[in-house]
Amino acid sequence: MSERIALASVQPLASPATPAGYPTFVHAMAVRGAFLEHLKLTQHPETFPGLCHSKPPSRSPRFLLVVDEFVVDPSKREDGEFIRCAACATKKKFRKGSLAWYPEEAVLRVIGNECGDERRAEAREDYKRRNSLDVLNAYLSEHLPRVHQYALEARAFREVARHAQELSLQLRTTGPSVGQAILRATKGGDGRLSIFASELQEGALERPIVFAKPVGLDFLRTKFQPNRLVDEALIRLNQADRGAPSKARRWLTSHAARLDDLTAAYANLTTGLRKLDDARQQVAQVGVFLSRSNLTAIDSWSRAHGNGLRIEWGSVFVTFYGAPARGQKATITSLHPRWRLLGHPTAPL
Ligand SMILES: [Zn+2]
Repeated sequence: MSERIALASVQPLASPATPAGYPTFVHAMAVRGAFLEHLKLTQHPETFPGLCHSKPPSRSPRFLLVVDEFVVDPSKREDGEFIRCAACATKKKFRKGSLAWYPEEAVLRVIGNECGDERRAEAREDYKRRNSLDVLNAYLSEHLPRVHQYALEARAFREVARHAQELSLQLRTTGPSVGQAILRATKGGDGRLSIFASELQEGALERPIVFAKPVGLDFLRTKFQPNRLVDEALIRLNQADRGAPSKARRWLTSHAARLDDLTAAYANLTTGLRKLDDARQQVAQVGVFLSRSNLTAIDSWSRAHGNGLRIEWGSVFVTFYGAPARGQKATITSLHPRWRLLGHPTAPL
């Protein structure tokens, strides 16, 4: 341990070489990649050429962060030690540090990650802002010129989504609800349809007879509203739309540093695309629910249960016969799935 302390005290604070000059922040940022590479290879950020190792002349000078935070691994350093902060030039050691540019002196220093009090807070804010600008600009330059195309796709998908939503509504609202009957039957347990022998015959054993687990049930739920999702997506995409790709690129060039405008465009774009994706996933549930195997399984459970619900699967129509309830006669709901419109894999040609 004492040997370590001795080593630490000889870690240089001042380099014999004159620090390199970085007249602007752009100059400082230009060595960021090389610095990170050096750090990775050596774990000695303080030996990066051209750094300033002495204390700044003024008290609490302003600085900007070139690297917000890096971490050294002392086990990979010859001295086995953490690093010193070149701005404080005390013996205190840091595992985490920053690479900072000091505009008044035009130099770079490796400093501790907590160095600088309120100056540190300013530098962090600035760093975060620059970082967000980079992320936003990268995302928007890829997607903003395509918004027009995304909106066209959403409009084309609208008819499909509307049809799917109408089918769902039909099943949920016609007569004694077929949809509710199925949802109720799958509630609890592991979602599989089952009946108890005792339900059919008095005195029979409480042994469940289990049928297949029905799939695509979101199609029957009130949250199934792909049409609404597409409409909401279109509102967002239209808000983000800057016109033709060339116009979108021009807008990006002139707004590259305007965080608020970029953030708004980003929010509209990502929300719009997410809603469109949700709508597509919901519509995919229609094909899953209305598939022959799924409906046949529900039908055989109904027959065993004797609840009056019947489903006939046909390639052109799927017909649901609702169970009679509250004195009402059986309701017949005939669905026209228009398989091809919904992109159903078993679409008849
Ligand atoms: Zn410091």
